[in-house]
Amino acid sequence: MATYRIIVIPGDGIGPEVMAEALKVLRAAEANFPGLRFECKEYRAGALCYKETETDLPAETLEACRTGDAILFGSTGDPSIRFPDGTEIAPQLTLRFVLDLYAGIRPIKRYAGVPSALAGDPAIDYVIMRENVEGLYASRGAGVKVGEQVAVDNMVITRQGTERIVRYAFRIAQGRQGAVRDKVRRVTCVDKANVLKSMAFFRQIFYGVAKEFPGIQTEHAYVDAMTMYMVQRPLHYDVMVAENMFGDIISDLGAGTVGGLGVAPSADVGDTLGLFQPSHGTAPDIAGKGIANPIAQILSARMMLEWLADRKKDAQLAQAARAIEAAVEQTLADRRNHTADLGGTAKTPAVGDAVAAAIGRTD
Ligand code: NAD
Repeated sequence: MATYRIIVIPGDGIGPEVMAEALKVLRAAEANFPGLRFECKEYRAGALCYKETETDLPAETLEACRTGDAILFGSTGDPSIRFPDGTEIAPQLTLRFVLDLYAGIRPIKRYAGVPSALAGDPAIDYVIMRENVEGLYASRGAGVKVGEQVAVDNMVITRQGTERIVRYAFRIAQGRQGAVRDKVRRVTCVDKANVLKSMAFFRQIFYGVAKEFPGIQTEHAYVDAMTMYMVQRPLHYDVMVAENMFGDIISDLGAGTVGGLGVAPSADVGDTLGLFQPSHGTAPDIAGKGIANPIAQILSARMMLEWLADRKKDAQLAQAARAIEAAVEQTLADRRNHTADLGGTAKTPAVGDAVAAAIGRTD
């Protein structure tokens, strides 16, 4: 029996609601794969934690994140609770920097049955790789404001930081079957190299790393044009790589083309640690109503098992990850399991129940 220590941080708003469903699905995975055990322990972080304890990321939580096998994160933040400088509570950003979780992996996949905002419901399936610890967000907490007249944030691009995220993107492409439209393995560098030196440097490093992967097609696009291409020809894409803020923006756009944030998972991984969380926030507008879509959180748990399977060389974990994926496919194919964001009436716990029950049927 392999036991994995999962650090669970439900967070604020809908975080605890969707986390409860992901934990339900992990329990179902344990029941179907008797060799697996997930020791899930909850820890605090976030806006409410800050309000009550004056810290958004307690030392005990951070220590657990450093020593556990993986971190399953809900979402944190509450626009009405802020730091004295006016910025929001965002321990997930702190964790990326402190734990060096440099690779943001954002699969953009449309599941059959889920309505797309795009005509013809295209079978979109690509991955956005977002550099997580430098770029424009490197200025978080370090920008300069001079009186009430001037504020400056800097874009930070390093050779080492860019090489490792680009290399990761090529490795992801190696493990995929290519773009939906032509089955060509392809990595697209998304930048603004025509305007900014830092972005020209990013692109130069991208093409340098690309030489290590001769079997994979390469191309580049300016981020502004990319927002149009992602709408006009999403099936052309396989893997994209971008600096921190551009990656942040295009991943929400991508989520919008496959059903929205409620079905968009993500992973933030480094060389030894991994944190898995939905792409969405705490959705204060629907929190407490029992209508949040738990699929993004469940798919983030699936990504966690896949990552752990690779790290621990545990084939059962990989099988369990595939079973969750198949169970989500089955669940979403039935419109009775769609929550309000997908145009349905299903409640959060009913969707978790449906996925958990489907795991038993997909073995
Ligand atoms: P949001 O993602 O919380 O919500 C955007 C919209 O998507 C809302 O209409 C919301 O109802 C909807 N939505 C999001 N997740 C959903 C789900 N699972 N099911 C159904 N609908 C869903 O973004 P926001 O409104 O910009 O931010 C709200 C709070 O979340 C802020 O405090 C923000 O700082 C925080 N936030 C946290 C994270 C994180 O923890 N990683 C990410 C983004 C925003």
